[in-house]
Amino acid sequence: MRAIASISQSALKHNFSVVKQNSPNTRIASMVKANAYGHHIDLIDPIIRQSDLLGVSEILEAEKLRKTTNKPILLLSGVIKDQELQQAIKLNCQIMVHDKTQLSIISNTKQAISIWIKINTGMNRLGLSTSEYFDCIKLLASNPLINIQCLMSHFACADEINHPMNQSQLFEFKKSTYPTTKRSMANSAAILSNPASHLDYVRPGIMLYGVSPFNTIDCNLKPVMQLSAPIMSIKTIKSGDSVGYGATWTANKSTTIATIGIGYSDGYPRHAKNGTPILINNTLCPLIGRVSMDLICIDITNVKARVGDTAILWGNQKLRIETIAEHSGTIAYELLTGVSSRVAFISAI
Ligand SMILES: *Cc1c(COP(=O)(O)O)cnc(C)c1O
Repeated sequence: MRAIASISQSALKHNFSVVKQNSPNTRIASMVKANAYGHHIDLIDPIIRQSDLLGVSEILEAEKLRKTTNKPILLLSGVIKDQELQQAIKLNCQIMVHDKTQLSIISNTKQAISIWIKINTGMNRLGLSTSEYFDCIKLLASNPLINIQCLMSHFACADEINHPMNQSQLFEFKKSTYPTTKRSMANSAAILSNPASHLDYVRPGIMLYGVSPFNTIDCNLKPVMQLSAPIMSIKTIKSGDSVGYGATWTANKSTTIATIGIGYSDGYPRHAKNGTPILINNTLCPLIGRVSMDLICIDITNVKARVGDTAILWGNQKLRIETIAEHSGTIAYELLTGVSSRVAFISAI
């Protein structure tokens, strides 16, 4: 019996509408990289249909996405070899330019291309410096086959609403660009907290999948992925008995234990602490002992449950993935993108 990730189509629609409400007059470039943040590209149709543009991180993702849609695709990595440029053109991708070494290949194109230019305003990961950017537009202007679609930059601290870098990066970006070209800056956190950053394109990612970009839970967003697995065994142990590898948890009274068919090889985090909640028949029950490769154990002393009943690991109004991330010392982005191919993905209402 496999674990199941069910992907809610109505939640996707709802979350997209939240983006729309927050930035009604802006184009929407939905981020569907990393197989739609782990949700599977072929299960997120409401996003693909409603977005103005779709962002992927590399060419294989673009290839897969192009099989399902004719919508504009933005290749976030850009290209560094002519062969990649040819592939990107064939897939009709818009191409990111984020490093000066990409310029020679882009500026010599013999076919029409649309590009985005990424400007570094303080994240210091990808992006041209402002002076490289000024040189770049001069160089690219000499080739009429190049259409500069949009200029963009990326916030380093958008999830901390009052961080001074949010102001300084937006200021820097606006100072070095003109509204005559389209501009884009806002990720999910900025969409929800900083309307001045919305500009021409917003770039929602995590919020589309129903997860708050802040370290709080946003009840206005609906969880998209529900991860569940069956109860495989139930047993009652006595005070003094331990559970799992390393015998790290010991019962201090008679305890009913359910063993669930999911583990770290499915993407349930091995670092989930004792007490991490799991939803059984509408009641939260604590994880006990270490997470194994295929199994976890939970204390169901206070719940009526039978072998074959479903345990929900995350993705329910009562049990948000943000809570599991917090108990495991990670972020929801990592949990979502870490659900493995062993899990059965299905489309749900
Ligand atoms: C992934 C990504 C986003 C989306 O970020 P979220 O925090 O998930 O909203 C926006 N812009 C770029 C360039 C990205 O790579």
